[in-house]
Amino acid sequence: MTRQEIRSEEAFGRAKRLMPGGVNSPVRAYGSVGRTPVFAREAKGAWVTDVDGNRYVDHVGSYGPLILGHAPDAVVEAVQAAASRGTSFGMPTELENELAARVVRLVPGMERLRFVNSGTEATMSALRVARANTGRDKIVKCAGCYHGHSDGLLVQAGSGAATHGAPSSPGVPASATRDTVVVPYNDLAALERALAEHAGEVAAVILEPVAGNMGCVPPAEGYLAGLRRACDEHGSLLVFDEVMTGFRVALGGAQARYGVTPDLTCLGKIVGGGLPCAAYGGRGDLMGCLSPEGKVYQSGTLSGNPLAMAAGIATLDAIEAEGAHERLEATGARLAAGLESAAREAGARAHVSRVGSMWSCFFSRGPIRNFDDAAACDTEAFARFFGAMLERGVLLPPSQYETCFLSTSHDAEAIERTLAAAPAAFAAAASG
Ligand code: PLP
Repeated sequence: MTRQEIRSEEAFGRAKRLMPGGVNSPVRAYGSVGRTPVFAREAKGAWVTDVDGNRYVDHVGSYGPLILGHAPDAVVEAVQAAASRGTSFGMPTELENELAARVVRLVPGMERLRFVNSGTEATMSALRVARANTGRDKIVKCAGCYHGHSDGLLVQAGSGAATHGAPSSPGVPASATRDTVVVPYNDLAALERALAEHAGEVAAVILEPVAGNMGCVPPAEGYLAGLRRACDEHGSLLVFDEVMTGFRVALGGAQARYGVTPDLTCLGKIVGGGLPCAAYGGRGDLMGCLSPEGKVYQSGTLSGNPLAMAAGIATLDAIEAEGAHERLEATGARLAAGLESAAREAGARAHVSRVGSMWSCFFSRGPIRNFDDAAACDTEAFARFFGAMLERGVLLPPSQYETCFLSTSHDAEAIERTLAAAPAAFAAAASG
């Protein structure tokens, strides 16, 4: 297939004059793969069409929300019906009860919750609840886990041992990250050392229970249970950022898949069915601190927006009714096996990592356990792989450090199309 990219280039030129980098979220600019971004025109199911008329199998899935694929009829109809009744009220609606009740029923650690508009807001607010309940200021996060762009969480990883965080972006004052301690992912001993070093000071340990923001990195055997024990010993709260994994790696999220219940959970992406929506919640006693029940302030003009609630309800109902996760598991296994064998045959040094419908292809010597491993990957090989897949009609997230997502719409045709492109793409990766 010869890709046309005339309109995408024109649109990007215009966008760059209007918006910094031409985008509203940096990864979309294709900077790390050195290409012009694909401008989307429309999409249905597993397929997306760009403004030049090229059609791709989509493994981006809007970075996670689209577990049913693009524009599923049930979600579109629910949103249209909700919109015709009013797009925002600034007063409570029964739709909020409906979605909240589903979340509480499905996610083991969620007894009560608040809806917000983005994952960034969810993690920021969950940590406020943790700090208010414990009367402590410090938080521990893992290198390579992303929890949105709030000041205190935008912290560069220290290498190896626990370090105090230094801001990883200009504009974040050092004072905002003074209470953020960074430890390596999948390293229980490092976490235990950090909690001991800051004994009595750590409000919460926050992490992605399956990391998705350094590529897809599963938790090591026993790691999450170890975190739970260590937090209990030190009186710190355990916060799972399930913005990406919630409803994806199992109906009840990673906490259901791995059988470890956190004190607080952050959700986003799937909970809003592709509309701007996120949530945070957990133990009822902890959430009772929020105003107007308690004194901790958090609010939002569009929080619990009826369109987002309707999309979330329709999405959760569909994945529950369809038994989606078994199918996603099988699709993921078929894809990973095909990619691994294509990589082997092409002689590419690549490792496919997968948890359910989250997957990554790391250009590495071995499996990836933490951010240091991920940072050592051959990103130029990834860029060649990405480009060759794109030319063959397969759209991947444009960075080694992003996770790919499958949906229930990824049928045999979508997987075969992906696997048909893989041999040439791995050959391109290996050619550097
Ligand atoms: N937490 C995790 C695990 C995420 O993957 C993301 C975004 O990708 C966020 C938080 C931030 O969510 P948002 O982009 O909706 O602010």
